[in-house]
Amino acid sequence: MRIGKIGAIALLLIFLNSAASAEKLADYLCFRRDVETFLSTHFSDICTETCYQSRISACCTREGIITFFADVVVNAIMSDETAIQALFSVLRSSQEGSKCIYLGEKGCLWQVKPLVCEMFLCKKAEDAVMKINQALRNEWHALKKREKTFRWPDQRVLFDELEQLFLDAGRTSPLMYLHNSPGLLRVKEEGLRGRGLKGRRGRAGLQGEQ
Ligand code: SF4
Repeated sequence: MRIGKIGAIALLLIFLNSAASAEKLADYLCFRRDVETFLSTHFSDICTETCYQSRISACCTREGIITFFADVVVNAIMSDETAIQALFSVLRSSQEGSKCIYLGEKGCLWQVKPLVCEMFLCKKAEDAVMKINQALRNEWHALKKREKTFRWPDQRVLFDELEQLFLDAGRTSPLMYLHNSPGLLRVKEEGLRGRGLKGRRGRAGLQGEQ
């Protein structure tokens, strides 16, 4: 089922009107800013030299990313109409070539790029910057640990709640991995069992909604 624009906006307003949800979103955006600052401070030079100037952009290959439904929602919240239209425009284009279709002349067209993209470091860059600097490596590991608190469903996480909000309204998407990936459903079930709770809803909850 497609998510109509008005319906999606209404759902987002409901979500943002809940103080707890708004706080979780604010935490997530704060985390994203911290990652961005870390990467631009320590990786900007090597990435510019290795990939952007040569236009290799090796981390933005086609089929190279997983986009979560929550990525789409967060990006929509943080985008204006022009930014959203830019995404629709590339989606309607012929989509040829080896690069990610969202890679524009000035970089990624998303306002808040998918989490998997943000957290990706190629081996060359990682080795060049962190091999000789244990403090930076520790900082990066701490950010990776923080990342999991938003998307890893062994506990209640923002990415799961955003999917659930739309599922409860009868909307679904193949990008709702926290509700349709067998591996992540297992993680969720084990997390619930570990906390003495039973699973609320699994793949069966999606039946008839596709
Ligand atoms: S979505 Fe953006 S950051 Fe991710 S691969 Fe595509 S262009 Fe690169």
